[in-house]
Amino acid sequence: MYQLEFKNICKTFDHKSISALNSVNLVLSSDPLAIMGPSGTGKSTLLKIMSGLVKPDSGEVYLNEGQGAKRITFEELKKWVSYLPQALEISNEKTIFEHIQAACAPENDDSYYYTRELIDLFSLHYKDDQYPNQLSFGQLQRLAFAIALASRPKWILLDEPFAHLDLMLEKELKIELAQVFEQLGVTPVLVTHAFKDVLDNSSKLYLLHYGQIYQSGDPLDLYLQPKDSFVARFFGPSNLIPVSIVLEDAGRAQVFSESLEENLDFGASVYPMTYNQSAASEFAFAFFRPEALDLLPENESEVGIKAKVQKVSIGENGNLVEVSLLSKNNQIKLYAYDRFRQIRKGQKVRMQVRLDQVRIISS
Ligand code: ADP
Ligand code: MG
Repeated sequence: MYQLEFKNICKTFDHKSISALNSVNLVLSSDPLAIMGPSGTGKSTLLKIMSGLVKPDSGEVYLNEGQGAKRITFEELKKWVSYLPQALEISNEKTIFEHIQAACAPENDDSYYYTRELIDLFSLHYKDDQYPNQLSFGQLQRLAFAIALASRPKWILLDEPFAHLDLMLEKELKIELAQVFEQLGVTPVLVTHAFKDVLDNSSKLYLLHYGQIYQSGDPLDLYLQPKDSFVARFFGPSNLIPVSIVLEDAGRAQVFSESLEENLDFGASVYPMTYNQSAASEFAFAFFRPEALDLLPENESEVGIKAKVQKVSIGENGNLVEVSLLSKNNQIKLYAYDRFRQIRKGQKVRMQVRLDQVRIISS
């Protein structure tokens, strides 16, 4: 079992005028993890620090090889962690073979054979005495992976690795990489904007925001139980209805959606539900994903709130349907999925919310 624990990582740039990372705590284990966050939030800086390429202003790192954690320097991380940069910069001064061999660990006396193995794994045979500018883009991407793996790292940090690939190549490479990582016993740490890749591959997700870990946990939990409306919106279409909270006894509250017209409530204008203490503000949101909103054409249902479809957009697992609700003060947009793609713009519908999936979150 290998584990790296990062504690209180801080990093500023430009004479401390930019705070890129602020007290970040993070654990790398053998579980694949992912890091997401808006642009400029410190993801690349964090990966560079975790791979020993950039020194933080302050912070500690502990390595556990199975016999208890010991503190190591950030420089020493290079031995365990490899970084695959966002933009590939591979010079044309070396051949494919030379590039990979040069990246092998210096104490590694079988670098010739290991280089051959990596060339095989990434199907770069017959290319090994060529130069990077003689490769296709897909081959160049594979070369970058081979170089990053040459030092036999325990972790490989991938900085938006699929951002510039076409769909076919992306699909191919993902399957290939999963096999290679498994075979070499390397754990990937993925920075991406594609939440689907995180759901497919990662057992833990860290959401960075303004250089801090804003929320972390099982990826699906972040999707279904965001701590506030920022996290909710970050992971896709969200239904957010302004509510006010009246605290009852410990741990419970009554939630009123006063902004809705009386005839537009969800069957009851009061939602008794388990109350999340972090949402302890007078104003909050009743939150649920589009999956929790059922839509039926108006003539097929007697129950549910009446609404009109404003927009329909094509989605992977069904169309995303936008309906609008009139409230006292404003218009609230709600989203639902239409798995059977039968609902059209302008159509009148009835909707029902799966109340067990509604959560009260901070605004
Ligand atoms: P992300 O990868 O999430 O888009 P980055 O880690 O690249 O974010 O950047 C975080 C912040 O640090 C940004 O404000 C960026 O401009 C700044 N930054 C990153 N690297 C440097 C650098 N070498 N010099 C100055 N500022 C930097
Ligand atoms: Mg980046």
